[in-house]
Parts: sequence; C-alpha cells; structure tokens
Amino acid sequence: MAFQITKEMLVGSLMPVVVYWVYGGLYTMLGYTCNNYRLHPKEDEDNKNFASKQTVIRGVLFQQFRQFIATNLLYMLTRGNDAGASSGQSTSLFVIARQFIVAMFVFDTYQYFVHRYLHQNKFLYKHLHSKHHRLVVSYPFGAIYSHPVEGLLFDIIGGTLAIFVSGMSPMTSAFFSSFCNMKSVDDHCGLILPGNPFHFFFTNNTAYHDLHHQLYGGKYNFSQPFFSIWDKVCGTYMPYELEKREEGGFKLRPVKECKN
Ligand SMILES: [Zn+2]
Ligand SMILES: [Zn+2]
Repeated sequence: MAFQITKEMLVGSLMPVVVYWVYGGLYTMLGYTCNNYRLHPKEDEDNKNFASKQTVIRGVLFQQFRQFIATNLLYMLTRGNDAGASSGQSTSLFVIARQFIVAMFVFDTYQYFVHRYLHQNKFLYKHLHSKHHRLVVSYPFGAIYSHPVEGLLFDIIGGTLAIFVSGMSPMTSAFFSSFCNMKSVDDHCGLILPGNPFHFFFTNNTAYHDLHHQLYGGKYNFSQPFFSIWDKVCGTYMPYELEKREEGGFKLRPVKECKN
C-alpha cells in the first residue's frame, strides 16, 4: 500500500514538466517575433553555443525522466510528510506562502554554494558544470540542460531539501517545483519583455543570469534561481547595464571590469 503510485503523485510529478514545456514553448514563439527585446541575435543560438538544440532537448527530457522517478520515490518514502501542512481540510494561504518563502531561501542558499563550488573546482567544472555553460546564448528550453550528476545535485537534492525543510505537502511541492521551473525558464529565455512580473519582483532575472553565461561572467552572479543575496554578501555580484543594440534588442554591459 505504501509503495502505490497515486493520481496525486502522478499529477504532482508531471505538473512541473508540463509547465516547463508550455512556458518554454511560449517564450520560444515570442523569441521569433520579439527581436527588439532579445539579449542576443536569434542566429547566435546556433552560432555561439557548443551544443545543438537536438542534444539539449534530449538532455532535458532525460533529466525530467530522472526527476519524475526521484519525485515519485520521494513521495513514496515521505507519505505523511504533509502532517501539519495538510492535516486539515485545506492548508491556509498563509501557511503555503510561508512554506514557499522558506523553500525559496533554502533552495537559493544551497544552489549558490554548490554552483560556486562547481566553478571553483576545475575538475567538477570540466566534467559537470561546463555542460550547462555550453549554452553561451541561452534559450528557454535549455534552462535545465546539465550533466545528470549536476541535475541530481542541484535540482533533485536541492529541491528535496527545500521541500523537506519547509514541510510542504506533495501537492504544494508540485506547485513549488513548477514555480522553480518557470523561474528557470524565464532566467534563460533571452528576452527582456516589458511587464514581466519576474523582472519586477526579482533583481536576479534574465539579464542577471545571462551575464553568468557569458565567457566574461563565469566568476560572477552565481545566485539562482530567486534572490541575489548571496552574491552580494560573498562579493560575487557583477552589476551591469542594458544597452540598445544597433540592429534591435539589448546587450549587457558589465559596470565593473571582470577579472578572469
Ligand atoms: Zn555556472
Ligand atoms: Zn543557466
């Protein structure tokens, strides 16, 4: 009975996958039509990156398959973890908001230090994290393209830790994972669209993370996916400005000189 896959588990583990591709698909379509809001010319997605789009799509689908298995195993092992979170008829919005904030902070803290270490340790960078950095010009569905071990470290262990510490129910954690996926897709979408609520609420956003993907930005802006606190506390924040490109769209200009 304890190892039974329920409808709730299936919905919970598939929701983040659907959100990733729907939100990513929307941005992919906008990327063709919104040239005046792009951070890089469209053709640079093929010319400047070190992985083809087919390779990236295949890698992301495998990563999502592994996440699907891990999420369902986690659900099976932690049935009842929702005690206190969903023990009543419904969890109050206040409790859900508190759980989201705790989970965001835990996830961000974990990701900052792991991410920074993956850059500092040359062996780990070469064999793990450099795969994500094959995308110098990032695009929406490349958001979680990474080495399988990195996917395990970042998303599966980090996400599990955030969900466990915040005490989320399986259904709340499905919404949280979907929200994380939306934020990651947004950070890699390559578009600075007016009215984007993520850009309004988070200083860590598309331009912030795009700087990290540039060859000059690999030692800066490690924070992801929500806040920029740890970069500012630890001195790895690289401020930047957005300039208009002559042919339309924007480009990043670091305000300080980057030390490589
Ligand atoms: Zn990185
Ligand atoms: Zn990235």
